[in-house]
Amino acid sequence: MTDPGRHAGDSSFVSVVVGAGAVGLSAAVVLADFGDVVVIEATTPSDEPPTRWGFSARTVALHGASRALLDSFGRWAALDAHPIRGMHVWEVDGTAAIRFSDPGGLAWVVDNAVLEGELHAQAIACGVRVVRPATVQSIESGDSKAGWTVSYTARDTGAAEKVEADLVVGADGAASTVATLFDVKRERVGRAQWAIATIAKSAERHGDVAHQRFNRDGPVATLPLGDPHLSSVIWSADRERHLALRSLDAAAFSSALSDAMESLMTVADVDRRFAFPLIPAYVRTTTPANRVVLVGDAARTLHPLAGQGLNLGLEDVLGLREVLVKGAPSSAWGRYADDRRARSRFMLTFLSGLLETYRGQGPFTRLLRNIGVRAIDSSPRVKAQLVREAMGLGPLGQVGLS
Ligand SMILES: Cc1cc2nc3c(=O)[nH]c(=O)nc-3n(C[C@H](O)[C@H](O)[C@H](O)COP(=O)(O)OP(=O)(O)OC[C@H]3O[C@@H](n4cnc5c(N)ncnc54)[C@H](O)[C@@H]3O)c2cc1C
Repeated sequence: MTDPGRHAGDSSFVSVVVGAGAVGLSAAVVLADFGDVVVIEATTPSDEPPTRWGFSARTVALHGASRALLDSFGRWAALDAHPIRGMHVWEVDGTAAIRFSDPGGLAWVVDNAVLEGELHAQAIACGVRVVRPATVQSIESGDSKAGWTVSYTARDTGAAEKVEADLVVGADGAASTVATLFDVKRERVGRAQWAIATIAKSAERHGDVAHQRFNRDGPVATLPLGDPHLSSVIWSADRERHLALRSLDAAAFSSALSDAMESLMTVADVDRRFAFPLIPAYVRTTTPANRVVLVGDAARTLHPLAGQGLNLGLEDVLGLREVLVKGAPSSAWGRYADDRRARSRFMLTFLSGLLETYRGQGPFTRLLRNIGVRAIDSSPRVKAQLVREAMGLGPLGQVGLS
């Protein structure tokens, strides 16, 4: 990537971030240290009203590295993050389970809408201009010293507007317009699934423990929330099972969830349910043109079984900051692109392998799996290492991070 034009840190350096999700807003806060920032977002927070119990469609588990980044913005305390102190993973009809615990917290659960609200406030406090609701339509080579002209349409007035940018950050999610405009292809890794997300109210207290049961066709997982009787749920399955689950009313779904959680949770009720496809894929390049970068879900989409989508998106933001701190030379952009691609591919391959391992139902496969799981569960050292990996702190967690 050649690097003409103004440099990060010049007083006139302008970044345009497309998308005000958690990743785009985090990028904006970081970029504000290097010049002016404009964020363009298609929606307003009121487009997605909270559910009956006051949650958004997404509650996310953040690991230690993400927590540190949000802490550095001074917004961690306001997020009301709930710690996961224990984790219990097992398989349907299995004879072995793995249990993790850390009284200080293995990870922290936050509501994505609360996170976006706090990041939005922080971006404004850093002098970022947020334009919303407005949809980016085109990105063309700029004729001024700035590299790009970003054109967008304001939803309320229908007016077409433009902004000049030295750097364009595509943080516009899985159906990224920025990726489409630069003709970036995505590579699929593993099978597509479908998921249902909701909040469950249980008779028992969750005890700050997250659960994940691997069914034959995908995992069902719960994350503990601030109310000791509420947990968020993601139930992933193949299409046929997914459609059957979607057709259930709240009482029947609660009952199916209680069965899936075996004796661990008696589900009394569930909140609104959201259904969505899971298409694991990553972009062939995260830097499709000079000073155009794709981050977050615009760069890859992961199965939620390991809760890593947002965590990886925040890693992208940290990587971006490193490039700019170095003065954004071509070599740093090249390194960034290679690292992020390697990290995406590694995580997607790992998650796909895990899903396939749990699909194998032959008696020998199941025996081997149960022996392996029991061996891991009885080894504190191996478990401690797995926890470090899940927190993004172990050697595997560093693949693609230089
Ligand atoms: C139910 C669920 C649970 C999850 N749990 C976890 C978890 O436990 N841990 C974890 O790390 N991850 C989790 N994830 C994944 C995580 O939520 C995502 O990876 C992350 O939120 C993606 O953030 P983003 O900012 O990249 O994209 P998004 O949140 O999708 O934001 C993209 C934004 O771009 C805007 N936009 C799109 N096109 C345009 C355009 N042309 N012009 C202007 N704006 C545009 C959109 O309106 C949107 O606001 C979960 C996901 C789901 C669905």
